[in-house]
Amino acid sequence: MIRVQSLAPDSLGAELGLVPGAELLAVNGRVLEDFLDWEFLTAEERFVLAARLPTGQEIEYDIERPEGLPMGVTLEPPRIRRCANHCDFCFVDGNPQGMRAPLYIRDDDYRLSFRYGNFATLTNLKPWDVERIVEYRLSPLYVSVHATEPTIRRWLLRNPEAPDIVPQLREFAERGIAFHTQVVLVPGVNDGAQLVRTLGDLYGLGTPVRSVSVVPVALTEFSKHHLVRELTREDCWAALATVDRFATRALAERGAPWCYGADDLYLQAGEPLPPTEWYGDFEQRENGVGSVRYLQGRIAAAHDQGALPDLAGKHIGVVTGTAMGGLLPTVLADLTAATHARFELVVVENTLFGPSVTTAGLLPAGAIAAALSRRHDFDVALLPAEAVNDDLVFIDDVSADALAARLACPVHLSYDFADVLAECGMRSAECGISGGGRSRHDAHLNTPHSAFPIPHLGEGQG
Ligand code: SF4
Repeated sequence: MIRVQSLAPDSLGAELGLVPGAELLAVNGRVLEDFLDWEFLTAEERFVLAARLPTGQEIEYDIERPEGLPMGVTLEPPRIRRCANHCDFCFVDGNPQGMRAPLYIRDDDYRLSFRYGNFATLTNLKPWDVERIVEYRLSPLYVSVHATEPTIRRWLLRNPEAPDIVPQLREFAERGIAFHTQVVLVPGVNDGAQLVRTLGDLYGLGTPVRSVSVVPVALTEFSKHHLVRELTREDCWAALATVDRFATRALAERGAPWCYGADDLYLQAGEPLPPTEWYGDFEQRENGVGSVRYLQGRIAAAHDQGALPDLAGKHIGVVTGTAMGGLLPTVLADLTAATHARFELVVVENTLFGPSVTTAGLLPAGAIAAALSRRHDFDVALLPAEAVNDDLVFIDDVSADALAARLACPVHLSYDFADVLAECGMRSAECGISGGGRSRHDAHLNTPHSAFPIPHLGEGQG
């Protein structure tokens, strides 16, 4: 059973008389378990919906939906599938107290993998889940493989029941499902010969495995350091050499690199990033793969379209985590050339997790507030939009509005700089760029909203 959270005005759902709190029971006699059933089973032009209103009244609607008319129903958040693993490097174990409640949930949910690109291990699938994935063609899925040697993978996941991943992926592939995969690299466990084996096995599964990323393990000061350590520079070099070997082969045989090192792997190795073209459609950008080149590409495209205004004389702060601190100057040089504004990088250390957590997406509002509290000199400061969830709340449970109210300069959430700056070109006063009409409460620009709140993407290493 699923429940209605809200209805869009003038939608078919509202016309039918559905109201918040109504239970959606079945479509064409098939019991509804979650949002997937709802979306797939109501995709037909004609169907019978059984519902129970908050009054207790049960109604059957015989629905003929005019083409293109949406049901307009937003569902209550789904119950997240819990993880059956206990990885030593689990992000959840590394969380301190006082963060957003969903961050303490170990999610491992194939539905969110399909819908939002969350990585799942597929270790908690029941036979009916497998059939559902195939029936609804939930493809591509994002899968945390880590290692294909079964014992090593079970060790990494701390799950003696974890199924052998290669046959599992093969079976899905034979039934039409594709994957993007990742290997979180844990030194001394799945690097070296194990990494070679894993990449070889995944490559051997053919084109259904569309990509694999190799991501250095990220630990916080609260992680189990007695069980897992971070990669050294030499570890990163060795991993990049393996990645490069597979990418070269894939490029020659399949026309695309297929195997990608995370930006962080290059950063930790002190090696230059591959060029923008290397990353194709940037399919693992959310996983920190190709993020820098993506930003540069977005800025170049906006500039070519004439979307970036001349901001000569303006002083713009750009807040980021320490991971991007070394990489962003290249990006900001592009921005300066395009807009003539003066950009200043504000690299913020993570005060919640400790300095070893370097990604901008995990920056707490408290650390940003400390860094910007006396910065009256910025015309505007751009904050990483990936640091808030769908409800615009930072990881330390502080809302974007509350943060903006504490700062000495106007702020905007931004994914790629071009989004906000192009907007500023059109509505400069609202963006605080032109000097007039500054607002400290306009941090909502360009933030995504999904049908229901879910834990922020990429919160765990899955
Ligand atoms: S890292 Fe991911 S798969 Fe491992 S225990 Fe945590 S949530 Fe589960």
